[in-house]
Order: sequence, then structure tokens, then C-alpha cells
Amino acid sequence: MRIARFSIDGNVAFGAVEGDPTSGPGGPGSLDGLVVDIIKGVPFADFELSGTKVPLGGSGSVRLLPPVLPSKVVAIGRNYAAHAAELGNEVPDAPWAFFKPSTSVIGPGDSIVYPSFSHEVHHEAELAVVIGRLCREVPRERVKDVILGYTCANDVTARDTQRSEKQWARAKGFDSSCPLGPWIETGIDLAGAADLAITATVNGELRQAGRTGQMIHSIEDLVVNVSEAMTLLPGDVILTGTPAGVGPLTPGDEVAVTIEGIGTLTNKVISRG
Ligand code: MG
Repeated sequence: MRIARFSIDGNVAFGAVEGDPTSGPGGPGSLDGLVVDIIKGVPFADFELSGTKVPLGGSGSVRLLPPVLPSKVVAIGRNYAAHAAELGNEVPDAPWAFFKPSTSVIGPGDSIVYPSFSHEVHHEAELAVVIGRLCREVPRERVKDVILGYTCANDVTARDTQRSEKQWARAKGFDSSCPLGPWIETGIDLAGAADLAITATVNGELRQAGRTGQMIHSIEDLVVNVSEAMTLLPGDVILTGTPAGVGPLTPGDEVAVTIEGIGTLTNKVISRG
């Protein structure tokens, strides 16, 4: 099931997306032809579909929002060897985690606002793990039970700031630096999530292309490692690292992260107004 969060006529709801986003009349990534069946309640507990369906694409009043509002986004650095190498970095022995604040999260179609302090903002396409239940010290065999599903993420990074400041709070935590979406795919198991194509395009030009199977530390490793240190809440997100091919974004660009079996997350880059 694809679970979206959206606004309609001033109300916010979750819903199950129906239709094939890869073959709709608007082409891959388009919402045209998709409908969403409104969920009664929230997807972090047992829920029912209401049967009330509204169109997602076209000129309707439905607007997709970030699929979750995480209390925290825990992101993993240097989890693909080829990406570590392209920036001249060693691969760490253990997962290397940092935070992106809740205020960095934006949804599909929202704008990435170029920060005032940077002249070198990069895209980083990443698989995002969405946590479904409160958990801590999750044993490896229980990891599958605490994951609600997966979505696309862009770990937008002020690369010059990342180089010049020891902590990455500003470089990777500025407002709008964490696009998430377009929805949460709940129908992928751990083995499936470990074998997905992941790409980033800028203005339609391919920049990043990898597979989640190239991760150094697996999804299980990451959930075990992060939950060893901190309680994870429903809706929290773990970003699993980016494959090679990161590169610059400039105002006016449109960046799209596509993950096989999940969907496409598209955002425009704008200057600070
Ligand atoms: Mg990253």
C-alpha cells in the first residue's frame, strides 16, 4: 500500500493511493489519474479505509504533504563506498549518524530554498526508512516489525559549509534540506528494500544512479545501531546514505529522486525571496 499524507479543503489526512504512477496519462512521476482513499485514523495503528476517494492529480484541491512529520530524521553518512570515494573520504567502520531537524522536512512539490550562507548546495538521493512504532534497542530479528515502510528522500547538503564547519547541523539541517515523499510504500520487505534502483535527475538529466544493495551497512544494521542509542517514535525517519554522483543545485533547477517500486520525489530549487 502507498500511504500519502495530504491536505484537502484545509484539512490534513492520510490516504491510500490507488492507480499506477508509472503509467498514468501524465507520464512517470505524474499524479494524473491517481486517486487517494482517505484513511480513518492514522497509519501507525490499525486503520480502515473510508471508501471516500479523491483525485490526487490534475487541478483538484488535494495537495501532497510530507508523508510523515518526524520527531527526528537520523541520517547516515558515507554508506555507499563510491560516494565516499568521490568526496575523497574513507568509509567508516560503523554507521556514521547525524540529525536533520524536523524543520528541515518538506514535501513533494515544495521548494528547496537556497540558504544564504552557502554557494555549493548538493542533492543526495536516499532511501528513507519510516518507523512505524515506538521502539528502542531493536534486536536484528525485530527490525522488520518496527518499519512502516519506505519513501524517497533528498539529503540536501550545503557542501561548502559541511567542509568548513566541524558539525553538520547547519550544512545538512537548514530549512527545506530534507524533502520526503511522495508517499510511504508499505508493501516492500527488508529483502526487497535492499535491492532497489535509486536515481537523481536534475532538470531531467541523470546525475545519480545506484542500487540500495550497494549500502555498506544494511537497513537492519542501521535500525539496530540507531535504536541502540535513542528511542525511535512512530514517523521517525532514517536516511540510509547516498550513492555516487552527488552534485550542485542552483536556483531554478528541478531535482527528482526516483526509487524503484516507491515513486518519484520532485522539488524545485529557489532563491531566498
Ligand atoms: Mg546523505
